[in-house]
Amino acid sequence: MMRETTDILISGGGVAGLTAAAAFGTAGFRVICVDPTPPVTRLEDAGADLRTTAFLQPSIPVLEAAGLWDRLAPHAAPLQVMRIIDAGGAEPTPRIVKEFDAADISDHPFGWNLPNWLLRREMVARLADLPNVSFRPGLSTTRLLTREAEAIATLSDSTRITARLVIAADGRNSAMREALSIPVTTTRYGQKALAFAVTHPKPHDNVSTEIHRSGGPFTLVPLPDRDGMPCSAIVWMETGPNAERLAALPVPDFEAEMNARSCQILGPLTLVSRRTLWPIISQIAARMSGERTALVAEAAHVVPPIGAQGLNMSLADLRVLLDLAQGSRADPGTPALLDAYHRARHLEVQARVTGIDALNRASMMGAQGLRDLRATALNALYSVTPIRKTLMRAGLGVR
Ligand SMILES: Cc1cc2nc3c(=O)[nH]c(=O)nc-3n(C[C@H](O)[C@H](O)[C@H](O)COP(=O)(O)OP(=O)(O)OC[C@H]3O[C@@H](n4cnc5c(N)ncnc54)[C@H](O)[C@@H]3O)c2cc1C
Repeated sequence: MMRETTDILISGGGVAGLTAAAAFGTAGFRVICVDPTPPVTRLEDAGADLRTTAFLQPSIPVLEAAGLWDRLAPHAAPLQVMRIIDAGGAEPTPRIVKEFDAADISDHPFGWNLPNWLLRREMVARLADLPNVSFRPGLSTTRLLTREAEAIATLSDSTRITARLVIAADGRNSAMREALSIPVTTTRYGQKALAFAVTHPKPHDNVSTEIHRSGGPFTLVPLPDRDGMPCSAIVWMETGPNAERLAALPVPDFEAEMNARSCQILGPLTLVSRRTLWPIISQIAARMSGERTALVAEAAHVVPPIGAQGLNMSLADLRVLLDLAQGSRADPGTPALLDAYHRARHLEVQARVTGIDALNRASMMGAQGLRDLRATALNALYSVTPIRKTLMRAGLGVR
């Protein structure tokens, strides 16, 4: 049996785990990162992640610290305005349109949008430049034994890794979290999200649009032009059976339904990618850490894709954890450090999970009376300037 020692073992090489490997590697720690599924780094390959991630302002310093932002910035589409449309009246047409402009609170856009498959390509390339990082696709963590001074993880090839700190970035069903018996609270909405890309005749002008009617939001997020046409990523949340029905429709029928739901806000949309389906839940772990282990990203919290919060919360986890580790270089996994990490993140994560749960429930509303109430609330919140600016800052995660 092989034995190895490292400062940090990262279980999971999704976008969060790869970012963690680049961030801790750039900071000079010895890092091993494992994932059973090799990352798909080309749009046209089977299994490519067709979602996009809108990185909000506070996430950019984390990507810079990881040596990633210079690679990513040339491919990013800025998000200057977030438009919310209520189309919840008797007819599926916009009845309230409100625009939140980043210029009201900042000199910069709210954030920048990037395709997930491209994130993986650039992140894997960055790790190859870091001699102190070993990324091992094709391997999973299978067991975890922790002691006061170290963690010993067993990999699927029987290698035993002794680490000061294990970062559990192994997703919503985290094996490391389960090994530590940290419970989770899960909310199921019976909802699924369809993710795909479209082109359209009208330019998006760097405006991200969320359209609410029933079943969940229909969100268009700007992407760079494709083949000379304005292009957007779409996340369309619906009740599970309806989402599955839509995913299986022939393209012309699907385009007809998508164009009815989009209110033609950017003109007729043309589907230019496959459609992928994602189950929607909320979930929060009872703690952000256990002995010698920090939970990050979906291992710690899952939220519906509203307001681009999911991965941005994950990068906030990494920012806090990296700061603490840099102040404790000799041992980045002490009980005091992990306790401080839990205290710094858990309340904030709880507040965001609760807030996004409420927004999702409001967007799902089917009854006309409730939809009218939602429209009134949107109008009222928007019309009071200090509340509008506070909401924008809260969404970004800045004061
Ligand atoms: C439709 C949709 C749109 C979204 N849009 C946005 C957005 O615009 N902005 C935003 O901030 N967030 C967004 N999110 C959320 C964001 O995509 C997720 O937060 C993020 O992808 C989760 O990343 P993760 O690395 O935690 O989990 P995952 O991507 O699930 O990665 C976990 C990894 O761990 C690996 N793994 C599992 N078990 C093991 C094991 N035993 N050992 C080692 N590895 C293991 C898996 O193979 C996987 O690669 C969106 C989500 C959805 C569903």
